[in-house]
Amino acid sequence: MIPLQKNCKQLAKFYLGATGAVWDVKCVSTVSSLFQPICLPPKDATIKKDEPTSKSQKLFSELGIVRQSSPGLFVLTPLGIRSLEKLVKVVDEELKNVGCQKLQLPILTAGNLWKTTGRWESTGLELLTIKDRHGRDYVLSPTHEEAITDLVACLPQLTHKQLPLKLYQITSKFRDEIKPRFGLLRSREFTMKDLYTFDKTVETAQQTYELVCKAYDTIFQRLNTPFVKVAGSTGNIGGLSSHEYHFPSSIGEDDLRLCPVCHFGTNAELSPLDICTKCGSTNMKDTKGIEVAHTFLLGTKYSEVLNAFFSSDDGTRSVCQMGCYGIGISRILAASVEVLATESEIRWPKLIAPFSVCVVAPKGGSKEESAISFAHFIASQIDQMQSFMQDVILDDRGATTIGKKLMEAKRMGYPFIVVVGRKSMEQVPLIELYDLTKNTQNVFTVAQLFDYLKMSSS
Ligand SMILES: [Zn+2]
Repeated sequence: MIPLQKNCKQLAKFYLGATGAVWDVKCVSTVSSLFQPICLPPKDATIKKDEPTSKSQKLFSELGIVRQSSPGLFVLTPLGIRSLEKLVKVVDEELKNVGCQKLQLPILTAGNLWKTTGRWESTGLELLTIKDRHGRDYVLSPTHEEAITDLVACLPQLTHKQLPLKLYQITSKFRDEIKPRFGLLRSREFTMKDLYTFDKTVETAQQTYELVCKAYDTIFQRLNTPFVKVAGSTGNIGGLSSHEYHFPSSIGEDDLRLCPVCHFGTNAELSPLDICTKCGSTNMKDTKGIEVAHTFLLGTKYSEVLNAFFSSDDGTRSVCQMGCYGIGISRILAASVEVLATESEIRWPKLIAPFSVCVVAPKGGSKEESAISFAHFIASQIDQMQSFMQDVILDDRGATTIGKKLMEAKRMGYPFIVVVGRKSMEQVPLIELYDLTKNTQNVFTVAQLFDYLKMSSS
């Protein structure tokens, strides 16, 4: 029989007794110590007509996830960076699965490389440039085709055996936007993953292209956010063909044409036709999209002018066939929230929520006060579970009620919210669990709660 007791330390001991574990609260992240610069707009604030805003921008700023430092430049707070690092991990895993290797190029690229390819002029005013004390020009790189091609060109003995070569980085990129807007969706500094591939022939380059596209499909499927892949324009990057990945959203800046019959789609700037070029359907649907990734089959546009050659079997030298592939890392944080959130509550792709679990503890001095240490115990137990390792935040604020904490945790969009309250003081302690992904609410015993969380993460 479970004894009636209000001392939660004893209660915890009771539960752990059988396993012989010791009552020991490991250090869990807490809301009371979190650096979260919340930025609530003043009550009488009116949004200026020329200042468009987006859901993600508003929620990120109000909830202390992202903070603007000057137009188009943003601080990612500890919450924002946690989310970004989770996304980076997913991208790293999938790219390494297809043989890509990570490196890091300098953010500054020598201006003469950009002059050689002609992009110093063709990029226009969006290109941020600086001069050093010797008067040499540099580009605050928006992308690194020149830098990476120059790197490969400088390898004296690149042979066909080393190809395909797939090199990528995840770093800050820069674009001098005339009108930065919508927070991380269109900023002047942003985090981008850029991959560059080098192949022997047009055919093998095409195979590499398809392999990388498959990895991209997997990344977006894992994010579990609705996306479309469409034929895109090659624009200023150039090349033979390209595809874009979009999150459909009314706030998107691209017009897309999607065929509901064969699911083929194009960026509207590529095809003003009302007929699907693949299946002939005349039922093309228009939608807006936020571009989150772009792939290009480049051909030899960069390798030719920057001399990226390799030696083949018989010793002859041939020019490398290239591809380049971007993913807007910081943009995806905002774009996914733009698509999934309600007007007042964030919803994350489960994989990239800053914390997966929030445990709500009672307020100090409340009737439930004696359950506070039980909440600490529950939080530290979940935080040691394989799939939630260091991924739990405990709302331990002493002066805030359970109701308010629950409301705020829902606004933050933590996928699992565990409430330790009045029911936790009953003979058999019960715990409430809110599963925001499934939009369900359950009352569980401790064992049921741990089982549920284990099941949900497998
Ligand atoms: Zn079609």
